[in-house]
Amino acid sequence: MDSPLPAWVYTGLGAAAGLGLAWGGYMYASLWPGSTIFGWALTAPPRPGELALTFDDGPNPAWTPRLLDLLAANDVRATFFLIGQFAQAEPELVRRIAGAGHAIGNHSWSHPNLAQTAAAKIREELTRTSSALEQIVGQPVRLFRPPYGARGPTTFKIARSLGLTPVLWNAMTSDWSEPSADRIASALSRKTDRLTRRGQAANIVLHDGSHRGLGANREPSVNAAALLIARYKQTHRFVTVDEWNRAAEGLAARS
Ligand SMILES: [Zn+2]
Repeated sequence: MDSPLPAWVYTGLGAAAGLGLAWGGYMYASLWPGSTIFGWALTAPPRPGELALTFDDGPNPAWTPRLLDLLAANDVRATFFLIGQFAQAEPELVRRIAGAGHAIGNHSWSHPNLAQTAAAKIREELTRTSSALEQIVGQPVRLFRPPYGARGPTTFKIARSLGLTPVLWNAMTSDWSEPSADRIASALSRKTDRLTRRGQAANIVLHDGSHRGLGANREPSVNAAALLIARYKQTHRFVTVDEWNRAAEGLAARS
């Protein structure tokens, strides 16, 4: 076990990497958010009542500004996993996200499937994105979410070597293809309520952009975020993933 971080956030290091997994096992190891076979990732701590809204595939000039307005109006801080090439194209929008107090994470430069990407290329995708983001916002980037959640045996090791904590999720639905905000929000509410009953925080994924290009319509996802905020603002505390990551590092430093 080479995780320096406490088990209450991380689900442990799997030992099966490189052991010749059968194809089904490889797909599980590579794509299932709860699998630790290819290394551990931050999902959510056992803090029922905490909820992290996370937004992938931005920045998106068509919808990220409206999402920022919504979050500001409700005094909610969220986490944005940005695609490097979109960040480079929209630096002012990235500065606006960071300036509002939201956490920013690395979501690769061009959104490839990193389970099928050579190590040198993975390193280039992550390094280039962190450099671009750090240059734009003037702060180090500490969080990384792999596109599609996909990783191979080296992906998380490379991320760690670049100072990035791998982050997955525990609540997702197909918000990118579902036109009804109500259906997106109710699917995510069912998952969140189940996590709360089990004593877990919720790490919810929505999409304010599309990896296919800038300008995608994300109205259903943004409206679903509004419904989730309305539903949980009396009962849950909205946190950033960075807050969990810093708490975990603090515990590791004391242990
Ligand atoms: Zn993505």
